[in-house]
Amino acid sequence: MNIVNYINGELAEPVSGNYLPNYNPATGAVYGQVADSDASDVEKAFVAAKSAQKAWEITPAEEKFKVLNRIAELIDERREQFALAESNDQGKPLWLARNEMIRAAQNFRFFATAAMQFASESHSMEGRAINYTLRQAVGVVGCISPWNLPLYLFSWKIAPALAAGNAVIAKPSEFTPATALLLSEVCIQAGLPKGVLNIVHGLGPKVGQALIEHPRIKAISFTGGTATGKVIAATAGPMFKKLSLELGGKNPNIIFEDADIEKAIKTSVNTSFMNQGEICLCGSRLLIHESIYETVKNRLIEEVKKLKVGNPLDESTRIGAIVSEQHYKKVLSYIEIAKNEGGVILTGGNALHPEGFENGWYIEPTIIEGLNMSCRTNLEEIFGPVITIMPFKNDEEALAIANGTEYGLAATVWTNNLTRAHKFAADLEFGIVWVNCWLLRDLRTPFGGVKSSGVGREGGWDAMKFFTEPKNVCIALS
Ligand code: NAP
Repeated sequence: MNIVNYINGELAEPVSGNYLPNYNPATGAVYGQVADSDASDVEKAFVAAKSAQKAWEITPAEEKFKVLNRIAELIDERREQFALAESNDQGKPLWLARNEMIRAAQNFRFFATAAMQFASESHSMEGRAINYTLRQAVGVVGCISPWNLPLYLFSWKIAPALAAGNAVIAKPSEFTPATALLLSEVCIQAGLPKGVLNIVHGLGPKVGQALIEHPRIKAISFTGGTATGKVIAATAGPMFKKLSLELGGKNPNIIFEDADIEKAIKTSVNTSFMNQGEICLCGSRLLIHESIYETVKNRLIEEVKKLKVGNPLDESTRIGAIVSEQHYKKVLSYIEIAKNEGGVILTGGNALHPEGFENGWYIEPTIIEGLNMSCRTNLEEIFGPVITIMPFKNDEEALAIANGTEYGLAATVWTNNLTRAHKFAADLEFGIVWVNCWLLRDLRTPFGGVKSSGVGREGGWDAMKFFTEPKNVCIALS
């Protein structure tokens, strides 16, 4: 399979003619190639985007709605094909990829309706003047997304950018480009005007860097690692681009003694290991009140041992393959770091080589105990099927451990004590707090992190505001 760019409404070879290998993590084998684009492809995409943007901006909201909604319908119609492509590319179980394709379609549907509903404010000055705020499209914007939830996150940026009237140049991760190619086909099928969306594939430090350095691309919406976020901020900041940065996390999952323990344990299995632990919102530090520590620990180990690891296309698989060889090695190296720091592996801890998939990149779901809150294992993002568990004595200690990292993306709290729930919701230094649930998402809510987990918020009106520039118009009435 050849994965090519999508520029000016057409599938396009990279200008250089160069390609990179594309791997299937389940088998470790190359199964296609992806365009190795560079600055000249970004320039081509920019020319197309620039010439399309104004006409798109003034396209009636109802027309924007129709085409964005049509994209959603086509993703739904081709769900199985999209899900298979995502699973082959990323290593995630096929059943999970199907769910993510539902969400990718929802992203387009949700922001299609946002195009119809978005409105701006006016401020009256008691008969002397009236102010009204124009919220105009930013222009040509860049969207860069990571490999963990490929189309889900790609569409989460592209859909609001388009709904707000921008033209977009988007870059998926070089590791997981397949569904972005299918999206290109769907956009052509849906009749999205030429140049309104352009997709360039290739290496982050090459084509991604060219995108953020482009002087006329006015806003960058980025999701990825904190280290890359720093590079993007250092490049785009002095150019005064609008920036939205959704970065890494080291999320706490806190279980109190008054919680519905069984529900907390069952959900925590997902919180810890869904998508091989490769979700920015996964809880990687499980904090358990000391009075229930042994009970929760033993039940958790029991549940985790039941998780089937292996062929992502097998419907009974719970944990698929790690996205790339380099990430697989990184995750395994953190298990070694944990052992060297004195961690005790309670379950897992090893690479796996399932029969028929010996060359794929599989790691057992791993639970580690016996580490303090300030060791590397508990401070650095591992982003794989590896969690630590720690007991805490009281609320103060739980809060100190939870807040004790540079990250601040998402926290989960399990308690039936209303006062405690509200107090933790207020005191946790995170952009998102779930109480007695995890990954329950309302697309209208602000989504994003604090501290080293990012700047800005996505979702709902926050996304529409990011992708528009407010302009105040003041009209004297006397
Ligand atoms: P990454 O290495 O930072 O890459 C993210 C994207 O940026 C990829 O498309 C990458 O391209 C591109 N890129 C790399 N260097 C670049 C540069 N110099 N200029 C422009 N673009 C560049 O992150 P990842 O490893 O793909 O994803 C995992 C990380 O994403 C984790 O830290 C995770 O927590 C975070 N994440 C955060 C959220 C959130 O909402 N906060 C959601 C999901 C994931 P290539 O892949 O082609 O190099």
